[in-house]
Amino acid sequence: MKFGVAGGREEDEFREVRLLRNLNLDALELEFVRGVYMKEDYAKELKKFAPDIIFSAHAPHYINLNANEKIKIENSKRRIIKSAKVLRHLGKNLVFHCGYYLKKGKKETFENIKNNLEEIINELNILNININLRPENTGKISQFGSLEEILELCSILNLLPCIDFHHLYARSLGKINSYEDFCSILLNIEEKLGSEALKDMHIHISGVEYGK
Ligand SMILES: [Zn+2]
Repeated sequence: MKFGVAGGREEDEFREVRLLRNLNLDALELEFVRGVYMKEDYAKELKKFAPDIIFSAHAPHYINLNANEKIKIENSKRRIIKSAKVLRHLGKNLVFHCGYYLKKGKKETFENIKNNLEEIINELNILNININLRPENTGKISQFGSLEEILELCSILNLLPCIDFHHLYARSLGKINSYEDFCSILLNIEEKLGSEALKDMHIHISGVEYGK
């Protein structure tokens, strides 16, 4: 297992890498959550400086692949692709939240997100960008991304998920938090996506406060 932190909120990542090394940590997730602030040339320099660090990235929060307006969908796709273009120089795993149900049903939301993700995958293939798109299970019930939805989506599109345990905890209103719970989640992943999905996991863990 490799451990790291979420960082890179427009801070100096070179300084962060030094801090990681001092703490004997292995990984840094670049938080592009408020926008893809990093330039590709900077990413290349960072990788040269830190070949020992495993980099991943979290795409902007302003993504809704189930938006009503076409322009919002196009912007969401563009943000994921822009994140991928920077990340490819540093690492593989691009985490993102798929979007919100809004007033649509769960089934329609699933279809919209699946179709738009397929287009993103095609676009990345055309651009020859080889990264792992990792849809993340989400904490808010207004957000698409229960564990079941994410595993189903990954199984259809042949993707690997990002499993966020504190989102599972919040979404279940604090019910999911025991050894047995964690085991059953891992078994669930194995059942839906195969044992390879357990060998190559990307996990988020943190403390969290939640409400109804
Ligand atoms: Zn996230």
